[in-house]
Amino acid sequence: AGHVNAIRKTPGGLIRVSLALDVPGNFIISSFITGDFQVFPQRAIMDLEARLKNMSADEDTIRETVNKFFADSGARIFGVEPEDLVQILLEAVMKTAFTKYGISLEDSNHLMTVNFMPDELDKQIFDYILLPYCAKLVECDYRKIEGCTICGACSISDIYEIAGEFGVPTRTIQTFEHLIETIYEFKLKGARGYIGSCCEAFYTKHHEDFVDTEVPALLVDIDDSTCYELGEEREAYIGDFEGQTDLKLDLLIHVLKKMRDSGNLRGEVSSD
Ligand code: SF4
Ligand code: SF4
Repeated sequence: AGHVNAIRKTPGGLIRVSLALDVPGNFIISSFITGDFQVFPQRAIMDLEARLKNMSADEDTIRETVNKFFADSGARIFGVEPEDLVQILLEAVMKTAFTKYGISLEDSNHLMTVNFMPDELDKQIFDYILLPYCAKLVECDYRKIEGCTICGACSISDIYEIAGEFGVPTRTIQTFEHLIETIYEFKLKGARGYIGSCCEAFYTKHHEDFVDTEVPALLVDIDDSTCYELGEEREAYIGDFEGQTDLKLDLLIHVLKKMRDSGNLRGEVSSD
């Protein structure tokens, strides 16, 4: 058995799904659905979890099970459509697709996909890399501007080095606005997608903004407690978070190399 997770923000609140899967048999051993949504009746989530038990993990069965559950029970989650739940469940199940790339199920839970599902990874082309400024050394001269001299003092170093070897343009993102500007700038230049890194809290909060750009992205979570959890969200938004995070270097390097080897990471775009 393996555990896979997925998280999304919906108009009704945050939903987190955690599944114990029998991977060879492709069925759900158990599920755990949590979040800050409002559900009526209270026991509906428990009942839905019971319905999903031992169900096949294929897309049609999951959709049918969820839809039938809401139709039969009359249960409601305010601001959440049954299809929202289906999509989150599928996203969790499809994390198993990462194992094809030598990524463990545990590590797959640190990967997030935007504008494509994990089982469509082989069809994506990534042309640039985006990294968060919070992973740079706090005292680094480049903390608040673009660049890195590859001095080795923080986890950003290895990624700029590899990106240089691969010829893939790389940018450090300073603020939420800068992120969106950069995505559109590359989109205009013909880039087809990017590999990036950010904390799960940032991804969750801005999921819809990421989706609205219509640009496919493969995101790797970062290590350490995040400034969201530290309650410094406003500062992070304007790029003033004074803490330092660490990139999940092993996983990010593995992803970059695999994507390079499979021809999905191309960098066929100008970095100017
Ligand atoms: S590795 Fe790059 S980002 Fe990190 S401290 Fe050195 S120059 Fe700054
Ligand atoms: S929200 Fe904070 S911890 Fe998360 S990526 Fe942004 S600056 Fe880093």
